[in-house]
Amino acid sequence: MRAVRIHEDLSLRVDETDDLTPKPGEVVVRIHAAGVCGTDLHILDGMIKPDAYPMTLGHEAAGLVDAVGEGVSLEVGTPVAIYNKIFCGRCEQCLKGRTNICDNEPEQLGFNRDGGDAEYVVVPEQNAAPVPDGVDLATASVLTCAGMTAMHATKLSSLQLGDTAVVDGIGGVGIIVVQAAAHAGARVIAVGDSEDKLDLARAHGASDGVLVDTPESYETVAERVRKLTDGRGADVFFELVGTTQTMNAGIRSLAKGGRFVSTGYTDQQLEIHPIEFILSETSFVSTVAATRLDLQDALTLASVGALMVPIAGRYPIEGIGDALDALRKRAVLGRQVLDIAG
Ligand SMILES: [Zn+2]
Ligand SMILES: [Zn+2]
Repeated sequence: MRAVRIHEDLSLRVDETDDLTPKPGEVVVRIHAAGVCGTDLHILDGMIKPDAYPMTLGHEAAGLVDAVGEGVSLEVGTPVAIYNKIFCGRCEQCLKGRTNICDNEPEQLGFNRDGGDAEYVVVPEQNAAPVPDGVDLATASVLTCAGMTAMHATKLSSLQLGDTAVVDGIGGVGIIVVQAAAHAGARVIAVGDSEDKLDLARAHGASDGVLVDTPESYETVAERVRKLTDGRGADVFFELVGTTQTMNAGIRSLAKGGRFVSTGYTDQQLEIHPIEFILSETSFVSTVAATRLDLQDALTLASVGALMVPIAGRYPIEGIGDALDALRKRAVLGRQVLDIAG
């Protein structure tokens, strides 16, 4: 089988690798679509390191069950979206449903375990979420990262009907947060680095756009958000960019009692005096990926047309380098996918 692998010298190659056989409780999935994510750039840059090189890249994949191990109830041929975080199902966090922060399982596809940018992947059965009718596999693949992350962040934001939500960063996650927040009943203000991205956000439920086309533009984001809200500010600021400057802009855009939701990050620090939270009783909410149930919920919303994934481009498996280059140039409207089979 072919797989996109990252090597110790941080080179990315399409290698021929061994075929996979499922152990008891596991399924092998023939991958049809795999999303290309900004996090992949962190791995390519060596900021996130796998336990051992080489590793197959990719944490956003969907396909058809191809082979099953002993004791598996999923049938061969079932379309599934792969939940990329391995979880034990028995620890305190898993029992609370917080499978994304499982106490016992450190493995995650495409982070420290072979991922889904390949013709096949092997995972425990509980990581294969059946894809409902009406959801294509490219959409399903993106829901396993951007989609479920957006669901999770929106749930943890405690957004209420009538709130104002700012979404900073209209990439793969941002465009789905826009939809989830609008669906939850919020007025949505998009912050993006091009008019095209703001138009995309408006087409998916944002009512206003704030353009940040130069690094200095973030200095006026708080002021522009307040202008759009009669001086009040935003109840929720979804931060998907994660530089010092963008995070400060977000915290300063909040209304009293507002929530700063930290999801996107870079190598930069959050540097702000606590008084900026204290005086307005605002909160810092952090979110990491999403739970297994969030993936299920994202798939359900997509199946009824309440979540749409704009597919920005389709590449063959050998096109991974081109897709990542486009992402690095921030020249992508929505999410790019690898079309691996079918
Ligand atoms: Zn991702
Ligand atoms: Zn667990």
